Amino acid sequence: MAGCGLYGDRYDSERSCANDGATARHPVQQRCAVPLAKQEIAGCLCRFAVGLRVNCDIVVTMRLKIVQVGEAVLRAGARELTREEIRGDEIQRLIRDMRETMHDAPGVGLAAPQVGLPLQLAVIEDREEYLKTIPAEELAEKERMPVPFHVVINPRVEIIGNETVEFFEGCLSLAGFSALVTRGRQVRVCYLDELGEEKSVVASGWYARILQHEIDHLRGTIYIDKMRSRSFTSIENGTRFWKGKSTTEILKELESASNG
Ligand SMILES: [Zn+2]
Repeated sequence: MAGCGLYGDRYDSERSCANDGATARHPVQQRCAVPLAKQEIAGCLCRFAVGLRVNCDIVVTMRLKIVQVGEAVLRAGARELTREEIRGDEIQRLIRDMRETMHDAPGVGLAAPQVGLPLQLAVIEDREEYLKTIPAEELAEKERMPVPFHVVINPRVEIIGNETVEFFEGCLSLAGFSALVTRGRQVRVCYLDELGEEKSVVASGWYARILQHEIDHLRGTIYIDKMRSRSFTSIENGTRFWKGKSTTEILKELESASNG
């Protein structure tokens, strides 16, 4: 991965787990899959296994509480993780739990401060199923396409070029609200992945927006710090009044409202 140069030694990605990928799934994992998805943890064998690593084939995930704006952790700077920490059980478990939490919300990104932890770690995934109900013109305008699940740790972001784009965005830590936010259209991000390996990505459009939003969380910044404040709306009213309208149309309406 060229162009980063942020991280020194490289992590040997060989897994320490002797059973990794070699054996069938443990029954606990199979029995947990459905109940977890339906929020029925109490009726599931999981309650005996949460927090325990019985052997390498048992993977149990928990949904975490997403903190809301006003919690100090959302305004504190998050600390970097070492490669050793990234490879350790605690962070690996956190990644699994954050993935489950993001899917359940649902959301396209979740940063560790949003689950109360001041760590420079975020998970991102924009699933194909989320895009199915969005009109093709809107997807094209926002340059939004599926992004596979990945983990971004200790990121450094650089805006490429001067082009900016303005769209409504929301945040799981400001549940129920949305506002227009201007973002760089294209970014380069250098980061460590879930194995502590150095990665670099050049992203455009909606993916670039997600990256900027999540990395802002790691610096104690929330989208309301950057929003066009007069566009701030409940999601219900955003759908009621702005759905299907372009940013240009919305800005014209906001302007005429403020002049009237
Ligand atoms: Zn957010």
